[in-house]
Amino acid sequence: MDTGTPEETTRQLSRRLLRDGIAAARAGDVETARRLLRQATELDESNVEAWLWRSTLTDSLADKKAYLEQALALDPDNEEARAALEKVLEREGALAERAAETPLYCTVHPDRETVLRCNRCGRPMCVECAVRHPVGLRCRECVRETRSPVYNVSPAQVALALLVSTLAGAVGALVALFVSGVFWFLLLFVSPAIGGGVAAAVERAVPRKRGRALQAATVVGIVLGLVLLGLGVGVVNGQPGRGLLAVLLNLFLWLYVVLAATTAAARLR
Ligand SMILES: [Zn+2]
Ligand SMILES: [Zn+2]
Repeated sequence: MDTGTPEETTRQLSRRLLRDGIAAARAGDVETARRLLRQATELDESNVEAWLWRSTLTDSLADKKAYLEQALALDPDNEEARAALEKVLEREGALAERAAETPLYCTVHPDRETVLRCNRCGRPMCVECAVRHPVGLRCRECVRETRSPVYNVSPAQVALALLVSTLAGAVGALVALFVSGVFWFLLLFVSPAIGGGVAAAVERAVPRKRGRALQAATVVGIVLGLVLLGLGVGVVNGQPGRGLLAVLLNLFLWLYVVLAATTAAARLR
């Protein structure tokens, strides 16, 4: 039977695959049909019939177009392919038109119509969500992903920030302890100033860096500073445990911690 040249054999095989593919398509087994027809065109790229069948079985308009163009290139007089391609082009034009007419809505605020798109990911965004970036308007997510090295903080830098804010925090806590002994409400003004001072010390130790890791280290450092003060007071009094307990149970000092920590965190954002 298969006595021809190798080309003829693959051509015959391609035709058999086409036959089986068509049978599968008629039986409703689209997956198998797609696979067999793909194999048919892979074996024999000039199998016009297989290209036509592939174009009817794909959901992708782009693929449909590509298959039909392939078929037409092989057989320019194929009326069926020409008519189908015209239809595809028509549909493509209609889709493009509709896309141009459809108003865009902000991805974050679906009730806001907009004409802006992120120039990195392409998502529609409203004026409020658009962030000015050196290369154009971008969405917040893309800006966050491509943040500057300012937000890349190494573990050593985090450790340094923790150490500095603990020491500065201990001094701050001492000041707060004195102030609370005079007029506790002065803490409302003094604490944010101390927080700013701790943040400034961290900025000096780890220059030109900010972000979550530094904020967290500084907040923890301010709390550890309070603990350090408690231990110090205890050591001075000869009873470290009791000193620590007295400081940790002092609610005024916790007021100081909250105010100082929020101020410091805000500064390092
Ligand atoms: Zn984006
Ligand atoms: Zn928005």
